[in-house]
Amino acid sequence: MAEKTATKDMVCIVCPIGCRLKVSQTGEEVRVEGNRCPRGEVYGREEILAPKRTVTATCTVISGRHRRLPVKTDAALPTEHIDSLLQEIYRLKIEAPVEAGQVLLENFKDTGVNLVAGRRIPN
Ligand code: SF4
Repeated sequence: MAEKTATKDMVCIVCPIGCRLKVSQTGEEVRVEGNRCPRGEVYGREEILAPKRTVTATCTVISGRHRRLPVKTDAALPTEHIDSLLQEIYRLKIEAPVEAGQVLLENFKDTGVNLVAGRRIPN
């Protein structure tokens, strides 16, 4: 019996051109159409096989000049971990001083992705 093909339309977000991609998967085989460059093919494949996103948010700062600290992941995180990372971020209470780029959560869920401070906050 022939394997079913699943097709998904998406927009490539790698550059501002925003090519409209059609990504089809039949078993293990993935086919990307509509991309103007190879980066779109990589993006389309990843979106089907292992989607990832860079996460940005803010967390609470105690005893600092500012109450909120912008934070971000230092690489794209598999989307299945985003909810649990956001829960962790909402629970975080960072004590100032904080340096820009300081690692706040290391190797989140063994993904190799760290959560880092987006700016410096003195106390
Ligand atoms: S496929 Fe290439 S040109 Fe098109 S949006 Fe993606 S990165 Fe840009």
